[in-house]
Amino acid sequence: LASRDFHPADTVIDIKGTKIGGGNLVVMGGPCAVESAQQIDEIAQLVKAAGGQVLRGGAFKPRTGPYSFQGVGVEGLIMMAEAGQKHGLLTITEVMTPEYVDICAEYADILQVGTRNMQNFDLLRKLGTCGKPVLLKRGFSATYDEFLNAAEYILAGGNPNVMLCERGIRTFETYTRNTLDLTAIPVLQGLSHLPVISDPSHGTGRRELVEPMSKASVAAGADGLIIEMHTDPDNSMTGDGVQSLFPDQFAALLKDLEQLAPLV
Ligand code: PEP
Ligand code: MN
Repeated sequence: LASRDFHPADTVIDIKGTKIGGGNLVVMGGPCAVESAQQIDEIAQLVKAAGGQVLRGGAFKPRTGPYSFQGVGVEGLIMMAEAGQKHGLLTITEVMTPEYVDICAEYADILQVGTRNMQNFDLLRKLGTCGKPVLLKRGFSATYDEFLNAAEYILAGGNPNVMLCERGIRTFETYTRNTLDLTAIPVLQGLSHLPVISDPSHGTGRRELVEPMSKASVAAGADGLIIEMHTDPDNSMTGDGVQSLFPDQFAALLKDLEQLAPLV
């Protein structure tokens, strides 16, 4: 079902009038984690003012260590839905377990599957019937074939609205957090009709690389970007402040991107 042989035309996902795929450029921006109602409200306002269409933010955080901040949970879903509604933005948030799919689908417009869960097949099956579009992140060691097979689980369950997200893979390089595989963008678009989104924040782990790799992703044909932005990155509650843009950097980047592709 994910293959272009089966479905030659690009899939365009229409979420409340915002069209993702088929040559439109969508920008999703926001913090790694929802921290408070005030934080997500402030950031939502900045994302909207810069021209972004989707507010990102994790209420449930998949942390490498069990003692790290795990997210504010259901309260965060509510804070984010309110901020999105108030500022006229769609919302995307990560869901980590099948039990939380229904509540996340109730509050968010797009459900995100994190890199660590790309092959959580019970979660993927449940997302097949959730009724909301899904952004599936590539596992950090997954081949294209494994990635597309993971998408296939969601599609086979009856949900046609899947976006593929390249967020960097693990290589021998340690300077960057991951190696953003730009090649994945045209390869996946050739093999599949699904929209391809790039995540230069997790793909590099370094703020100064987000701008050039965002532009490179768009040049390579990405249908959208998901970018971390924070009003106070040095004091963010996850370690992802180092890769988060400051609001003025985010706004300047979107201005530049508009020269490359219209933000629809
Ligand atoms: C995130 O988007 O904050 C995140 C945890 O992403 P990934 O699953 O790509 O690490
Ligand atoms: Mn993050």
